[in-house]
Amino acid sequence: MPELAYVNGEIMPVEEAVISIEDRGMQFGDSLYEVVRLYDGRPFRMKEHIDRMRRGAEVIGLDLSKAGDLEEILDELIQRAGLKTAFVYLQVTRGVTPRNHVIPDDLTPTVIATVRHLEELSEERYVRGSRAFTRLDERWARRDVKATTLLPNILSRSYAVGKGGYDAIHYEEDGTVTEGSVSNLFCVIGGVIRTHPTGKKILPGISRATVLQLIEKMQMPFAEQAFTVAEMMDASEVFFADTYSEVMPVVQIDSQTIGDGKPGPVAKKLKKAFRRVVIAETGADL
Ligand code: PLP
Repeated sequence: MPELAYVNGEIMPVEEAVISIEDRGMQFGDSLYEVVRLYDGRPFRMKEHIDRMRRGAEVIGLDLSKAGDLEEILDELIQRAGLKTAFVYLQVTRGVTPRNHVIPDDLTPTVIATVRHLEELSEERYVRGSRAFTRLDERWARRDVKATTLLPNILSRSYAVGKGGYDAIHYEEDGTVTEGSVSNLFCVIGGVIRTHPTGKKILPGISRATVLQLIEKMQMPFAEQAFTVAEMMDASEVFFADTYSEVMPVVQIDSQTIGDGKPGPVAKKLKKAFRRVVIAETGADL
């Protein structure tokens, strides 16, 4: 099955997809993106991803009305590619124009998307749990907007993965933990599951929302309340939530062992429940 790309109305092999060097997404990171996972060829929570892009577009004043029906575009691309275990990448830039910091009127957004194979994380990663490494959060102040200006994220993630971790854990100058570079973060502190509240400081993750729905349904104690690095290091469980891993237990942060050094019951339960939601909502044969 082919990996396909979409560029402004046309579908083609990924290797043939090109955009202008004067695209503002390329020059300024003046663009938004989404990553949607396909299970058995079916997208999980596509609408939520598109809605998040719409909210981001409103914040940065990017007019999506000329971008076409994004859900329809992705549906067609997904059907044409026919990939089963895959992810869809969508990016909408403000458009092509001679380089100028000032945003011109009447630009037509560039819409690009790809559907590509996804290498699933091994079962062993979940059974053993992952490591993570703390990093000062040096990202911009509107982390709720999923913009492609990702330099701090790629530096953090490269640092963490280079040391054998799954992701970095960002903290602010005052010690407050925000999130990972590709994931939201949860801790179990004093029996209560905690995660940073939504707002400008974190991305409102689709997986985070899924996990919170599960926590509510299972009537587990939780609070959308931020925690510090010190509280996190003392937590009985820490886990990431993101589109790729769904729920990834963290058993070591920097040189500190978390809990008893094994994935804990909350993360294990949520990971299983997450898969059940995916199957129920997408009808995927997993
Ligand atoms: N936080 C950040 C900074 C991210 O980049 C991502 C995903 O890319 C997430 C959280 C998780 O979001 P989602 O669950 O929608 O994949």
